[in-house]
Amino acid sequence: MMGTYALTWDLDSIFRGGSDSEELKDYVRKTERYMDDLEAAIRTFTPPKNTDQTEELNKIVEILQVVSKKLSEFGAFVSCLSAQNVQDKKANMWQSKRSELGARLGNGLTEMDQVFVQVDDDVWKSLLNQAPFKAISFVLNERRSLAKDKLEVGKESLINDLGVDGYHAWGQMYDALVAKLSIEMNGEKLSVGQASNRLDNPDRSVRKEAFDKLQETWGEASDLFTETLNHLSGFRLQTYKHRKWENVLKEPLDYNRMSEKTLNAMWETITEYKKHYVPYMKKKAEKLGLERLSFYDVEAPFGEADQKMSFQEGAEFIIQQFRKFSPKMADFAEMAFEKRWIEAEDRSGKQPGGFCTSFPDSGETRIFMTYSGSPSSVATLAHELGHAYHQHVMNELPELNQGYAMNVAETASTFAEMIVADAAVKEASTEAEKMVLLEDKVQRSVAFFMNIHARFLFETRFYEERKQGVVSTERLNELMTEAQQEAYVHTLDEYDPTFWASKLHFHITDVPFYNFPYTFGYLFSMGIYAKALEVGPAFEDRYIALLQDTGRMNVEDLAKKHLDVDLEEKDFWVHALELCLSDLESFMDLV
Ligand SMILES: [Zn+2]
Repeated sequence: MMGTYALTWDLDSIFRGGSDSEELKDYVRKTERYMDDLEAAIRTFTPPKNTDQTEELNKIVEILQVVSKKLSEFGAFVSCLSAQNVQDKKANMWQSKRSELGARLGNGLTEMDQVFVQVDDDVWKSLLNQAPFKAISFVLNERRSLAKDKLEVGKESLINDLGVDGYHAWGQMYDALVAKLSIEMNGEKLSVGQASNRLDNPDRSVRKEAFDKLQETWGEASDLFTETLNHLSGFRLQTYKHRKWENVLKEPLDYNRMSEKTLNAMWETITEYKKHYVPYMKKKAEKLGLERLSFYDVEAPFGEADQKMSFQEGAEFIIQQFRKFSPKMADFAEMAFEKRWIEAEDRSGKQPGGFCTSFPDSGETRIFMTYSGSPSSVATLAHELGHAYHQHVMNELPELNQGYAMNVAETASTFAEMIVADAAVKEASTEAEKMVLLEDKVQRSVAFFMNIHARFLFETRFYEERKQGVVSTERLNELMTEAQQEAYVHTLDEYDPTFWASKLHFHITDVPFYNFPYTFGYLFSMGIYAKALEVGPAFEDRYIALLQDTGRMNVEDLAKKHLDVDLEEKDFWVHALELCLSDLESFMDLV
């Protein structure tokens, strides 16, 4: 018998007293002391000359893991504070403190990596074979080899320092300009974000009006965004040039620990499979009473699933479905509900959206969302529980092995979401509801295969042209339209030429190419899901082992070891896409 689950989370069990917490103050003070120790140790760190000189390195690695763990714990708590109450001013102060400590850690690491580079290759190799370093050798090696590809420490820190008011400043300028934009609709003054929300309105005239107004607004302002985009990409390309990096994909591929061959195999397979989605696009147009879909119709709702679940029902449904795949995952979810690790209440003053954050020092996680009872909020809850479970199975690992990139970050979450979404389709009480739920799944595929693909095509082509000089607004519009036509296999009536200006992801400076990892994560978890269906209950422990390796392997080795597949070959991707097609076929049959 399950208990009644609370809709609000318990943060006091981590630090008592919210943003006024004395425990938190104390914790941060201690963290700062560890940071001082780490900086001191790095300052005197000299490259080991032989394999007996392990003391300094060992000390640094130990303190580094403590500092990282404490900073994550602190950062997670602060993000929970600001999420639960956007008015919490003290939380903002803590946020600045967290950034300051983060920057100190970043500088320390750059220095440390430079010492790694100076270690002789043979000495380095045998050092990493020794006990304290062996377990974390992937991460240490990765740091060293990435540092090798960079310039010497003085130049890199100059780039970093100039980047604050150069590179990153262009990104901030973008945000500031967007915040100034507004749109008049029916006498109402809307932000571009609010107007964009109307793009998935069930009423086509509302969608069309929002789309036209958005085009007009972005169009008028686009010369400004031509500046911001050209300068931030120019800064990036200049940096690459000095580092002698010719491929603009080097940085994002390194960051996602994947090869270009894998990326190409994925996109090529997707491209081959797109034709299967053409009849669906036609069908959808027909259902909406249109000749052809326009950009703003692709994600339009088909109908509404009116089936609502209370939080309690949603929780019980998720636990029940998880249990069919993995009792351990179900037990974990049950514990998360019981211990109040989830904030789901629908109230004002909360941040929008959802996230899952980890407290590696306490070995706990917290989920933040606003639960509405719709199928999509049940799916979101399952999604975030998937993230939480990923962290849970990594708790026992060394801190340095707990970091994983964006492309695998979405693996456990998508997997969990898929279990629940599939079950919801199976248990749908009416045909109409089943159709809505299935269409939702198909639409997700379309987003990952077409929308995200268009972003990737645009971005790669834009960077190539930018190498030759500044790219004009007209050309940017043209590049975007062409990318969309190609990605949507010419199925649409109207495209979105100013998408390059309106989509924040092209202007994020922390992570370049904020697009293909989404599609990778989606299909990668599809492949895992297919394996889970095939293997049955025995898959549970294999799944855990896979998740535990996400922070200490590149994706090709990860897939080879746990799924026995080669990501650089098309087979794996074909398999995953076939699974997506089966949803598509069920949907087409129903329609
Ligand atoms: Zn996620």
